[in-house]
Amino acid sequence: MSPETLLPPLSTVEPAAPFSPADFDRVVMTTYSRFPITLERGAGCRVWDTEGKVYLDFVAGIATCTLGHAHPVLVEAVTTQIQKLHHVSNLYYIREQGELAQWIVDHSCGDRVFFCNSGAEANEGAIKLARKYAHDVQDIQYPVILTAKASFHGRTMATITATGQEKYQKGFDPLLPGFEYVEYNDIQALENAIGDLDEGNRRVGAILLEPLQGEGGVRPGELEYFLRVRKICDENNLLLMLDEVQVGMGRTGKLWGYENLGIEPDVFTSAKGLAGGIPIGALVCKESCNVFGPGNHASTFGGNPFACAAGLAVAHTIEKEGLLQNVQARGEQLRKQLRAIANQFPNLFTEVRGWGLINGIELSAETAITSIDVVKAAMERGLLLVPAGPKVVRFVPPLIVSAAEVDEAAGIFGEAIGAIASLP
Ligand SMILES: *Cc1c(COP(=O)(O)O)cnc(C)c1O
Repeated sequence: MSPETLLPPLSTVEPAAPFSPADFDRVVMTTYSRFPITLERGAGCRVWDTEGKVYLDFVAGIATCTLGHAHPVLVEAVTTQIQKLHHVSNLYYIREQGELAQWIVDHSCGDRVFFCNSGAEANEGAIKLARKYAHDVQDIQYPVILTAKASFHGRTMATITATGQEKYQKGFDPLLPGFEYVEYNDIQALENAIGDLDEGNRRVGAILLEPLQGEGGVRPGELEYFLRVRKICDENNLLLMLDEVQVGMGRTGKLWGYENLGIEPDVFTSAKGLAGGIPIGALVCKESCNVFGPGNHASTFGGNPFACAAGLAVAHTIEKEGLLQNVQARGEQLRKQLRAIANQFPNLFTEVRGWGLINGIELSAETAITSIDVVKAAMERGLLLVPAGPKVVRFVPPLIVSAAEVDEAAGIFGEAIGAIASLP
């Protein structure tokens, strides 16, 4: 039987039972404060909820749905792949995994790729790689990884430890040893930490940074800072590892965030947008730090044919449709429009910042209005946005977003702000 004949004809499918958030809340752990809507369908940059209300999606699964929703190329790729072969063990060669790794190697500074399923897992891999490199190559008995304050690297034990924000660590100690934190974009702080930590067999072996801090408030890395960080790493034989989970795969208008900073990392990680919303993660390194051998690291699902076929579809579409140019143009358009709104309400906003299609508007510390208030007001008017901390509202639409959709989003945002500003 062909796969189509295994599917029941549409007319015989039971109509879906009405969805109940209360039932959901009884059985799903309450690790999220959820907004009270349920999304059930999407097309392009729009999503529909169970009430039939349509939203312009400037969240995109948090910087994940690179090609938007139901993109024909992605639909075709995953449909074809699941009919052919969706999962096999890494005990065997996997064609699609090799092809996606080749594409990444051809389009980045990296030479070697390890695939996993999420951003946190990719960063776990980077942390393990850094420790093995410290023992095998740097001859450090107790290696320390420096990360930045206000960073975000994931929710596993190692990655909450790497994350320089106490709110993610609270309640989960003991954290992992071997991490220290420095102020982001502050070269003196970094130099001091490297000097202070040099105790012979306990010293810094690697530095892990985001090219632009996403969750920490959409804070772009400074060119001058990263040039100096690269130089310090070269002079001291330290690994420079960049967390590209949120900004990689075209989000900034360059394929990788580091291309905005005039440097190449030794190691970088990717996940969110890499397969357009199909779970995937990748750890990429240069040959010089390719210290993993058989048995050192593994993942059951990592790099399976399904996820890698999705990744290849995203990769080829970014190239074929010239999406990087669109990201740059739409990003400039959006920042210009957001700055115009910020200028209309100088008491409410302090700054609009970002690269390509990762942008944030920061609320003034003086106003009581929070990012959640703004996100709710926009949501009521049909625009989905996501906070990046208590005072920054983040705009991360699909990379296919059109000029008309950016205009529309800015219009809705302006109305939402107007309504908030007029409240007593
Ligand atoms: C989202 C994110 C992560 C974690 O990714 P998950 O897939 O949620 O594990 C790590 N680093 C950065 C910079 C992120 O934005």
